[in-house]
Amino acid sequence: MLASHPKIDLPILHLVGEEADRLGLECYVIGGYVRDIFLHRDSTDIDVVVVGSGIDLAQAVAKRLGKGAHLSVFKTYGTAQVKRGKIELEFVGARRESYQHDSRNPIVEDGTLEDDQNRRDFTINAMAVCLNKDRYGELLDPFGGIHDMNKCTIRTPLDPDITYSDDPLRMMRAIRFATQLGFCLDRETFDSIERNRERIKIITKERIVEELNKIMLSRKPSVGWILLDKTRLLPLIFPELSALKGVEIKDGKGHKDVFFHTLQVLDNLAQKSDNLWLRWAALLHDIGKPKSKAWDDHAGWTFRNHNYLGAKMIPRIFKTMKMPQNEKMQYVIKMVDLHMRPINLIEDTVTDSAVRRLLFEAGNDIDDLMLLCDADITSRNEEKVRRFHKNYELVRQKMIELEEKDRIRNFQPPVRGEEIMQLLNLEPCARVGELKNAIKDAILDGIIPNEYEAAKAYLMKIANQE
Ligand code: ATP
Ligand code: MG
Repeated sequence: MLASHPKIDLPILHLVGEEADRLGLECYVIGGYVRDIFLHRDSTDIDVVVVGSGIDLAQAVAKRLGKGAHLSVFKTYGTAQVKRGKIELEFVGARRESYQHDSRNPIVEDGTLEDDQNRRDFTINAMAVCLNKDRYGELLDPFGGIHDMNKCTIRTPLDPDITYSDDPLRMMRAIRFATQLGFCLDRETFDSIERNRERIKIITKERIVEELNKIMLSRKPSVGWILLDKTRLLPLIFPELSALKGVEIKDGKGHKDVFFHTLQVLDNLAQKSDNLWLRWAALLHDIGKPKSKAWDDHAGWTFRNHNYLGAKMIPRIFKTMKMPQNEKMQYVIKMVDLHMRPINLIEDTVTDSAVRRLLFEAGNDIDDLMLLCDADITSRNEEKVRRFHKNYELVRQKMIELEEKDRIRNFQPPVRGEEIMQLLNLEPCARVGELKNAIKDAILDGIIPNEYEAAKAYLMKIANQE
C-alpha cells in the first residue's frame, strides 16, 4: 500500500482519483513514476492510465484545476497532457497492442489495465498504483517488478523474443536502463537481445541516438557501451567504435586495446564533467586509430596523426547517426583534433609560442580540452599516472601565466582589417588578410605584445619592408 507515500499522497493525484470516480473510470499511475518511487529517483512526469478515455479524464482534471493548469489534447494518439507548475500529467487510455513484422508501430485497441501492463517493456516499468478512492494507493505489480528491483535486474514481462522483436527499440532501452540504474540484464533478456539484434535495423537513428545520449549522460557510461558490445548490437549501430576493439601482437609487442582504453577515458571524464559533447569527444578521441595504425621496426606500433584522421571521420559519423551538424559537432571535431597537443607541451624545451598557439586554437574550450587530456591518462602504473597529471598541471600553469600576460584565448586582432586598408591605402584584397595574419603570428610567436600600438608599429614596419 502506497496511500500515504509522499509521492502518491499528493493533492493533485487525489483530485485525479476523484474525477475518475465521478466519471465512473478506473485510473492508475503507471510506469517510470512508480518505479522511481522505489528507486528514490526524482521524477515529475506522471503517466496516468485510464480504463476508458484518457482525454475525458484529462479534461475533467484540467477543469477542476482551473487557471493554474494547462491542457493539451492529442486526438490522433488519444492522449492528453495536464501541466501544473513542475508537474506534468500524461493521460492515456489503457490499450492492447499487436505488432506486424516490419514496423515498431503497433495496431492499437482499447484494453484493460492488464492488457496495458502486458505491453510495457520491463517488469520494473509495468507497475501501477490505483488512484480511485476506495483502492487509493493499491500497488499492482503482476510481473514482480519489486522483486526485480531488489535484485537490480532488467527483465521483460512476457517472452523477451516477442517483446524485442515487436519493438526493437526496447533493446536499446534495456541497455540504457541498466546503465542509468546500475542494473544487470536478466540472462534471458540478454540472450534474446543478442538473438534479435538484427531487428535494430527498423529503428530510426534519431531514436537510437536518444538512448545513446542517455547512456552517455549516466554516471558510468562504459556500462552501456560494454553491453552494446557484448550483445553484438555495437557493430550494427556504431561500426567505427566496434573497430577499436582488439590487440594485435607483432614481435611480441602489443598495443593498448583502444576500445577499453576509450571507455576508461569516457568514465574518467564523466566523473569530472556533465557536458554531453565533451563526453562524445572522449568517446571519439581515438576513433582514427585503426586507420592510422602502422608497424615500425624501431618504434613498434604507431598511430601517427590519429587525432587528425579521427577529426576528419566525425562529420560522416554524425551524419549517419543523425546527430547535430552544428557548432556541437564542430566542438567535438576540435577536441578530437587538439587532444594530442597538450602532451607535446610537456617537455621542458617547449616554447611560449607553442603554448600561445594552442591557447589561440582552443580558445574558450581550453579548459575542456585539458579535462579530456587528464581523462586520457589511463596507465596502470601509478607512478606514471602521477607524473603525467603533474606535467599537465605545469602546462596549465604555463597557460595561465601566458594568458594573463597576452590574453590569447579570445584573440581579436588589435588592428582591424578596415584600419589596415585605411593606413596603407588598400582596397579590400587578399593582401589585407595576409597582413592581419602576419600580426597574429607575430603576437603568437611573442615578437610583439598583444597590444594596439605595438601591432600598428609592426604593421607599418612589415608593409614598408616589402
Ligand atoms: P525515463 O522517462 O526516466 O526515461 P520512463 O520509464 O518514464 O523513464 P518513458 O520513455 O517516459 O520512460 O516511458 C514511460 C513508460 O512507458 C515506461 O515506464 C514504460 O512502461 C512504457 N514504455 C515506454 N517506451 C516503451 C516501449 N518502447 N515499449 C514498451 N513500453 C514502453
Ligand atoms: Mg518518463
